[in-house]
Amino acid sequence: MRKQIGIVGAGTAGLHLGLYLRQHDVDVTVFTDREPKEYRGMRLLNTVAHHAVTVQRERDLHVDHWPTEEHGYFGHHYFINTPPQPLRFYGDYHAPSRAVDYRIYQPRLMEDFQNRGGNIEYREITGHEVSSLSARFDLMVVCTGKGPFGQMFQHEPAHSPFDRPQRALCVGLFKGIAQRPTRAVTMYFSPGAGEMIEIPTTTFNGMQNALVIENIIGGDLEVLAKTKYDDNPRAFQELLLGKLRKHYPDCAERIDEKEFDLANGPLDILQGGVTPTVRKSHIRLDSGKIAISLGDVQAVVDPVLGQGANMASYAAWILGEEIVKQEVYDERFVEHVNYRRQDRVLGATRWTNFMLTNLKAMPAELQQFIGALSQNRALADEFTDNFNYPERQWDCFASAERMQAWCQSRIKAATAQARPAIAKPGRVTADAA
Ligand SMILES: Cc1cc2nc3c(=O)[nH]c(=O)nc-3n(C[C@H](O)[C@H](O)[C@H](O)COP(=O)(O)OP(=O)(O)OC[C@H]3O[C@@H](n4cnc5c(N)ncnc54)[C@H](O)[C@@H]3O)c2cc1C
Repeated sequence: MRKQIGIVGAGTAGLHLGLYLRQHDVDVTVFTDREPKEYRGMRLLNTVAHHAVTVQRERDLHVDHWPTEEHGYFGHHYFINTPPQPLRFYGDYHAPSRAVDYRIYQPRLMEDFQNRGGNIEYREITGHEVSSLSARFDLMVVCTGKGPFGQMFQHEPAHSPFDRPQRALCVGLFKGIAQRPTRAVTMYFSPGAGEMIEIPTTTFNGMQNALVIENIIGGDLEVLAKTKYDDNPRAFQELLLGKLRKHYPDCAERIDEKEFDLANGPLDILQGGVTPTVRKSHIRLDSGKIAISLGDVQAVVDPVLGQGANMASYAAWILGEEIVKQEVYDERFVEHVNYRRQDRVLGATRWTNFMLTNLKAMPAELQQFIGALSQNRALADEFTDNFNYPERQWDCFASAERMQAWCQSRIKAATAQARPAIAKPGRVTADAA
């Protein structure tokens, strides 16, 4: 008999898993509360950048509908607003990232899933329904943390250091900001006030810029998360422009103030906050079947480093492989999945939480680290590309000693490479060997 898998949620986690399983001839039903046609008129869902590793999975799933030559971007500019002189530098990726408005992306992938034999049932699922639904399936996968599902999987205190959001977010898609000659994300840091990530994003009216404005609570920028655009759009724009000029002047300089506004209209803004949380990876349902958590419901992070959907996609792929490979979906199955997904998921979680804490006050070791990146392009490239591999970032950031060793080993290697080799008498040189 063919395997039958039930998935609650048609976000990136549920859709990447569903598409993977359809490629491997597994029967899948996705339950979701939204039809594709509803997305067009919805408020901005988020502003998600998929890194090259996720773009590669999209190619492998045959859902690479937005060629990176046209829709991708190629690295990060960094701007640190430190007096008297801001610090600026750039790092490249090994391959481009891409951001497509999820109100376009998700309905398109839902269509792909259905065209490949995937089944979608449109309705809102309640927490206790999962157990009765499970009678139809070998395994239930829960891919939404909304409403009752957050409580279904207990939070893991060891990996959840915060009980509230660490930034007050003001996130919008804007028109009127000129792209840089080479498309790239810009990560801006204004110590003591917050961070801002500018992301070239494909939306309904072409490529525009997402501004993810991460504001330190109690700081000068927090007002951006509290002032409602709808109350007075002009006043909101003036407020925002003033704060950009003060904290992120490299962005303000590229703005055509006559055109500057939300890209598609008043629904293109989100305000609020994310409490970073890791939850249990599974439960045994009353029916006796297992429900496994995937995506944000398992681990949700603040968007400052753009990791949530990338780690959800990675974990979906791993779960898909294990579902195909294994016959029994029990606690041992969950152990296999967890063993393979947790380095990346926890790497992203810990690195993001570290940055949220340390970017506020910029301790000496982080200042030195950023200083080293700004002086050495190879370091900046490696740091930038490692947004693809958050576990490698955590290998670097897990302690002050590691940060120092990371920089020193690379500087030493580059110096050794630059120095011409002197052949000693009686020794065979590498070239000759
Ligand atoms: C402002 C912002 C910027 C971000 N930027 C990035 C970024 O640059 N890079 C990155 O990787 N991540 C980013 N993220 C995180 C990213 O959006 C999430 O990690 C990712 O979308 C999670 O996917 P998911 O499938 O787990 O959940 P979701 O996308 O939340 O999907 C949940 C699904 O479940 C459905 N659903 C909900 N409740 C029910 C119910 N009761 N019954 C049935 N269906 C239901 C929903 O309709 C939806 O289809 C950002 C997040 C925010 C808020």
